[in-house]
Amino acid sequence: MIKTNEEIELLKIAGKIVGDTHNYLKNFIKPGITTKQLDKLAYDFIVNQGAEPSFLNYDGFPASICTSINEEVVHGIPSNRVLQDGDIISIDIGACYKGYHGDSAWSYPVGTISKEKQYLLEHTLKALFEGLKMVKPGNKIGDIGYMIEKYALNHKLGVVKELVGHGVGSHLHESPDVPNYGNKNTGMVLRKGMVIAIEPMLNLGSSDICILDDDWTIVTCDDMPSAHFEHTVLITKDGYEILTKR
Ligand code: MG
Ligand code: MG
Repeated sequence: MIKTNEEIELLKIAGKIVGDTHNYLKNFIKPGITTKQLDKLAYDFIVNQGAEPSFLNYDGFPASICTSINEEVVHGIPSNRVLQDGDIISIDIGACYKGYHGDSAWSYPVGTISKEKQYLLEHTLKALFEGLKMVKPGNKIGDIGYMIEKYALNHKLGVVKELVGHGVGSHLHESPDVPNYGNKNTGMVLRKGMVIAIEPMLNLGSSDICILDDDWTIVTCDDMPSAHFEHTVLITKDGYEILTKR
């Protein structure tokens, strides 16, 4: 799981492409656009950077990005659905550059959203950074999940447990798993040169998730909104470097 300097250079480029794709795409997230249009914009942007969308055909996934609206947690498939004022949309983007991946999800407001949805977005983003505080050599995987879960519970948000963060490298999903829950001082020790994606998925309601008939889209069982923020980070000598910076 420790990456070589050559691998880290490629992972940095892949991560930058993912961050740049988010920055590009966010200008188009407005009422009236379809998720399929966003998918096409992302595909063209990623390919123009000399990379490939990591998710396209991954286990048969039929699009370049995941677009999950409101009660959809993750893995929403781009379609002709039109974004409406008041929606929130979680967009998960992966890019593969010369065989190495970057992975980052972000939840965006569409037009003007409710106070509750603002609260969810604000605190899911903060939960990601609570987890990141623990990322340095010598700490353990469980420390990250402990911080995320504690923050979420303190803010009365449901923590999705069935889906987890992961290592990132020449595979989009590698060891180790990085759960959004856990106990302090448990699990694998973090070491310099590891690259991991941390990605809390938090719900306004309960933590329970269900899957739709398309066999991809994960939704909250109680239909309450869900948010998702993810960065791919490199573990450095004394902390971490975000590779998918915005
Ligand atoms: Mg991921
Ligand atoms: Mg992702």
